[in-house]
Formats: sequence, structure tokens, C-alpha cells
Amino acid sequence: MKGALIGCGFFAENQMRAWQSLAEVDIVAVCDPDPVRREHFQTVFGVAHAFAEAKTLLEQCRLDFVDIAAPTPAHAALVRLAADHGVAIICQKPFAGSPDRAKALIQYCEQKGVSLSIHENFRWQYAVREVIRRVHDNEIGTPFFGRISYRNGFDVYQNQPYLARVERFIIEDLGIHVLDIARALFGDVSRLSCETNRVNPDIAGEDVATIMLRHDGGATSIVDCSYATHLTPDPFPQTLIEVDGPHGSLRLTADERIYIHTRDGCQCHEVTSHGPDWSTPPWTIIQESVVAFQTHWLECHRAGIEADTSGRDNYNTLALVDAAYEAAAHHTVMTPRRWS
Ligand code: NAD
Repeated sequence: MKGALIGCGFFAENQMRAWQSLAEVDIVAVCDPDPVRREHFQTVFGVAHAFAEAKTLLEQCRLDFVDIAAPTPAHAALVRLAADHGVAIICQKPFAGSPDRAKALIQYCEQKGVSLSIHENFRWQYAVREVIRRVHDNEIGTPFFGRISYRNGFDVYQNQPYLARVERFIIEDLGIHVLDIARALFGDVSRLSCETNRVNPDIAGEDVATIMLRHDGGATSIVDCSYATHLTPDPFPQTLIEVDGPHGSLRLTADERIYIHTRDGCQCHEVTSHGPDWSTPPWTIIQESVVAFQTHWLECHRAGIEADTSGRDNYNTLALVDAAYEAAAHHTVMTPRRWS
């Protein structure tokens, strides 16, 4: 598989290293309008070609796929361009910036016959995968309650300074992952309410959000996110999960363990992620999830099937983000849109 990485920023380094750890993939080109960034990637990762513009890249390189790690405002033009060249597309979240824009791009790719997947990696974290597997294997029965919780005091603005300036912050940037885990665990959502706060006075958007969801399968879940929660040790970047079912309760805790409580007692399962050899704490669980997502994408691509986080699937996660902002703005209950 010959691929190109479009966007050579902070997170793209993980994507690049993960592709280089997969023997079947060769990233033959990188692209970034910023010469410092693209030259850095070309040199450090030994990539054959570097381009300032995706148009030139796609005209000059024969590719099987592109991996778009550029920011959301660039998605529409890049996705259309790649679709016009008939190459498979992976694109970072938050995809396209709104469900309407996402829908138009998903349909465009379908018309052009190219696959579109979203780089949604949180559900691919080892501990989260294990929670999803155990719940879907019916270890505690059909869930009636869940809590998916991401709370820490990490200085996220250091690596991603643009996050301090966006009007829509924690739900769109981080909550999107946590909402996606809720969908992966309990299915799509029929009703949603949300409240937000801005605790850090130096940022433009919300840094705290609490979202309540009613899922089609009957479960109620709480998705809560905060970058204003000071804890020692700081659990960044862990997502903690509670699921209650009629036969037992599951807890994913910050010590990287899953506890399954039943009437007969409690079983503990270690879910420590060791990460790839290039991983750097505290990013280990995230970096491992990037490899896991890309491995899954490759397997699906080879089998000619959609990845779990296809464009269509991700539309329903994006719709939750949109509904959460609407619910918070009007203090009301929303019925999120979904792909139809
Ligand atoms: P960044 O600003 O560090 O990097 C973005 C890069 O894209 C920059 O180098 C910029 O010059 C380049 N770029 C802009 N327009 C481009 C274009 N048209 N063509 C090619 N390159 C272009 O940003 P980042 O923090 O790396 O975030 C990038 C994306 O990754 C965002 O969508 C963000 O939400 C996502 N992200 C995902 C995760 C995750 O866990 N999945 C984590 C962090 C960031």
C-alpha cells in the first residue's frame, strides 16, 4: 500500500510512526504548506517526496490512499481532491466541521467509489477495546447504565495552542472521542441533554461538559469531560468507564484494570497498554490506539469492507457533538440526527 500523509503537525507524528511500523505500508510522500513542517517530516522519517500542495502530490504520485491529518477547515477541499483521484481516504476528526458538510463529503466519496474512514482512535485504545468486548460478549447482561469519563488537568494548550482560541472546544475536540465510545458501547442515541462550563478564563470555549444520553438499546449514559480537574496522579489521557448491567457491573479504573463485579464477587483483569516501541508516556495508550486503528483499517481495506469508523458511522458521532452544543445553548433535550 502506497500512502501519503497530508498535514505534518503535532498529531501526524503518531500517524507517521504508526504507518512505519506496519510492514505492508509505505508512506511515499508528505504534504504541508509549512516548509519547516514538511521538511522536518521528510528528513526525520526518510520520506521520498514532500509537497506544499495536495493537488501537486496527487498529480505526481501514484497512491493507494491518503491519510489527512490537516485541521478541519482543510478537510472538504482535501477529501474532494483525493476522491477525484480515486484514492482511499482516511481523515482526522472532527470531520468536516458539521454533520451537513460531512454528509456532502460522504456522498461525494460514494459517488466517486472511494472509501472514506475517519481516524477515530479512542475506541481503539486497548483498555477501551477490552471494555467493549466484554460488554458485547454479554458478561454483565444488556447494560442499563454507563458513564464514560475523561477528567484531568493536563495542559493541552501547550502542544495544541489553537485549542485555546476555538469557540467550540472540549466537546468538539475531545468529547467527540468519548461520545464515540458511548456509541460503540451502547449504540445510537435517541435523546441527549448537555451542560457546559468554562473554568479556565484564558480560553475562548468550554473546558467542561456533562452530557446525558438515552441509547436505542435502552441504556442511559453520562459522558463527562474536563480539562479543569486537578488530580494527583493526573490520569491524562485515560478514559474511565463504568457500565452497569443486570448480571454485574464493570469498572475500568485509572490503575489500568477492569473489575467485573457480580453477585459471586469481583474479578480483576489487567489492561495495561505497553504501546509501540516508539511510544512516549503519557501518550502510550493513544499511540497504541493509532497503530490499532491503522491495523484495523488495513484489514478492512484488504477485505473490501468499511472500517468500523467509516464516514457514515462517524456522521452519527458528529451529530452527537452538534446536538450537545444545541442542548447546552438552549438548556433543552435534543433528538440527534443520524445517518439515513
Ligand atoms: P497542527 O496545527 O499541529 O498540525 C496541522 C498541520 O496541518 C500543520 O502543520 C498545517 O500546516 C497543516 N495543514 C494545514 N492546512 C493544510 C493543507 N491544506 N494541506 C496540508 N497540510 C495542511 O494540528 P494537530 O494538533 O496535529 O491536529 C491536526 C488534526 O488532528 C486535527 O483535526 C485534530 O483534531 C486532530 N487530532 C487528533 C487527535 C486524536 O487523538 N485522534 C489528537 C490530536 C489532534
